[in-house]
Amino acid sequence: MNAATTRATALADVAAWDREHDVVVVGHGGAGACAAIEAVRAGADTLVLEKQTRGGGSSAVSTGVVYFGGGTRVQKACGFDDSVEEMTKFVRLAAGREADDDKVRLFCDNSVEHFDWLVDLGVDFKDSYVAGKTTHPFDDSCLFYSGNELVHPFKEQATPAPRGHKVAREGEAGGYFMEPILQATEAVGATILNECGAERAIVDDAGRVVGVVARQGDSVLNIKARRGVILCAGGFIDNKEMVAKHATDLLIANWNCSDGFDDGSGILLGAGAGGELRNMHEGLALNAYYPPDGHLKGILVDRNGQRFINEDAYLGRTTDAMIFKAGGHAYLIVDDELFGQTQAFHKLAAVEETFEELEKALEMPEGELVHTIEVYNRNAERGEDPLHNKSPDYCRPLSAPPYAAIDCTSAGCIYGMLTLGGLATRASGEVLTQDGDEISGLYAAGRNTAGLCLEGRTYASGMSLGDVTFFGRLAGRSAAAAAPWE
Ligand SMILES: Cc1cc2nc3c(=O)[nH]c(=O)nc-3n(C[C@H](O)[C@H](O)[C@H](O)COP(=O)(O)OP(=O)(O)OC[C@H]3O[C@@H](n4cnc5c(N)ncnc54)[C@H](O)[C@@H]3O)c2cc1C
Repeated sequence: MNAATTRATALADVAAWDREHDVVVVGHGGAGACAAIEAVRAGADTLVLEKQTRGGGSSAVSTGVVYFGGGTRVQKACGFDDSVEEMTKFVRLAAGREADDDKVRLFCDNSVEHFDWLVDLGVDFKDSYVAGKTTHPFDDSCLFYSGNELVHPFKEQATPAPRGHKVAREGEAGGYFMEPILQATEAVGATILNECGAERAIVDDAGRVVGVVARQGDSVLNIKARRGVILCAGGFIDNKEMVAKHATDLLIANWNCSDGFDDGSGILLGAGAGGELRNMHEGLALNAYYPPDGHLKGILVDRNGQRFINEDAYLGRTTDAMIFKAGGHAYLIVDDELFGQTQAFHKLAAVEETFEELEKALEMPEGELVHTIEVYNRNAERGEDPLHNKSPDYCRPLSAPPYAAIDCTSAGCIYGMLTLGGLATRASGEVLTQDGDEISGLYAAGRNTAGLCLEGRTYASGMSLGDVTFFGRLAGRSAAAAAPWE
């Protein structure tokens, strides 16, 4: 596969149509299923193409945390007073410096409605809250602080509220999130073709996308889309060639955060029809050194024994700092009372009775780690962290030997990664050219697009499933409402 684009097929080269529908959705994951449901409900005869034996995609292997706020049923039942205004302030920060204001606004204004829409489909969220810092609730509880809401510099700019909502199942619950949504796609009456991958757009002389060429086994199908094609085929972390071309920094990842099918084929197909690629260098990196949340009372240092981030930040932010500030070479320093095993089973780089010995064992410049800990401990005695503004809740001197350095280097532990770049779109789903013009007949949503959140360092857990399902719905409605092509 060429990592630049997948060239479109000219309509003139299509001898005959094998199928005809109003709307053709490419990919039956979170975005595609929601796009198809809304397209059918708006009256469009809708076909969903899915490359795998069944839909679900990365959405179905995810943890099942969705970002909602502004006063959901769960937030109210758990006693949290959130507002659309405060959610919008936070999501604007979380979406990153280049955030699309329309996407931020629509996502927040409609968050309660979107929660209710998913619940109506059968997605189950329990009215329960988990306190403390965690990657997600491990039981079937729902609500938790899933991002940087309580963390400097976010907490000073938006009133914090917990907005991570996990589906009511133990452990990784993405399959339980997707099951009712996949069933709804069928129940509303969308036609689904499994083991059928879209390969190229079909484009008329005017540049309108009028269908796709797809492959099912040995058969090549020319599929006409009277109103529109919606690309919902996921990200590109599994396409090494694309990552190397667009996002070399992401090559540090040693675990792809995907179902193995995030091969970028939808993005390349859209680019071949003239779509602009945006934010392709960005990804979300995750090195899960907590829970246990006692680890947040430790300190992260680089190879020179220097701190570089407030350790209580969300993992997307701390891992981004490990990569870009510490060059992928970081250690978490804890004392005996704080040490605990992580879910990712981090190894120990060294354990020593004194900081002098620890510094030596880690081959750090003499005196640097010792000095860092002296300064940290002095401030932590007063519950302060003037250098990095870690919350007082996690400031406590490291003083119970032995002391451990937990290996957070990219060579020694898991750095998971997913991509945050893709086709440029309007909030309503239309794919845009480099000049900002809409490509007639072409829509996209989910990780096929540069979506709601554009930066790993500001991301909050749940922003991908929230984004893909919400903007999938909008793309489905837009395509269904488009004027038909003859
Ligand atoms: C382990 C893990 C945990 C995660 N946890 C969370 C979480 O808790 N919360 C959160 O917000 N995000 C989470 N994520 C990220 C999130 O799951 C994804 O970013 C999101 O699901 C992407 O949704 P999508 O609809 O864009 O793509 P997908 O859900 O991957 O759907 C794309 C579909 O398109 C199909 N496809 C691909 N190419 C073609 C083609 N050419 N033709 C036809 N079909 C094609 C694929 O087979 C797939 O079914 C997690 C990811 C992983 C891997």
